[in-house]
Amino acid sequence: MTRSKVSLALLEDSTYKQAIDQDLQEMEKLLNELLETERLKGHVVLKRTSSSLNTLVKSVISDYFSDKPIHAFLERSLPTLQLDETRLRLLIRNLLENALKYQPSSAKPVEIHTRKENNAILLIVEDHGAGIEAEHIPHLTDPFYRVDPSRQRKTGGYGLGLYLCRLIAEAHGAQLEISSELGRGTRVSLKISLFAEQR
Ligand code: ATP
Ligand code: MG
Repeated sequence: MTRSKVSLALLEDSTYKQAIDQDLQEMEKLLNELLETERLKGHVVLKRTSSSLNTLVKSVISDYFSDKPIHAFLERSLPTLQLDETRLRLLIRNLLENALKYQPSSAKPVEIHTRKENNAILLIVEDHGAGIEAEHIPHLTDPFYRVDPSRQRKTGGYGLGLYLCRLIAEAHGAQLEISSELGRGTRVSLKISLFAEQR
């Protein structure tokens, strides 16, 4: 992969170069996602540290989505959580990437919320896109599942993002829930129980 990228960098700019560059980037994303899912399926111990979920959300937005229409509603003074920050950031990034990718650019901004509810902390990502038919919802976190691969070719991706999110949630003893309404949008929430989280 690295050798190909170096060779490519030495070529003159052209549309072919751009196309190969884009393919390489997609392959790299796929490889990284596959490696990460394999790690999480094995006996990888999470590197948990005391973390502020709100700080993680803000850092993901400023690192990857600073020019994108995202409204953040982050509840103040949430308790700190024992999180694997690298993996939580990956989860947040994947959810925001989906929300932005599957709603038209004319839609209202994507929303990300954090709040405490009973004995849990919720992280919710909500979009105003076309929504997903109910029959697909139970399968969305299966590896390589995409709702309509032929129509979705232009959005790219391999159907690993939500699988990875589920593995990250489970490794933290948290749950990922997806709900959607056709024509209205999709909401994905991560529920981290304050008791399970202390284990
Ligand atoms: P990858 O994340 O690996 O780049 P992907 O986005 O296709 O590819 P997932 O993130 O796992 O894969 O999502 C699986 C499928 O669920 C998507 O292909 C899409 O059909 C559907 N989906 C996910 N999020 C949304 C959303 N916010 N709105 C509508 N459909 C969605
Ligand atoms: Mg995705």
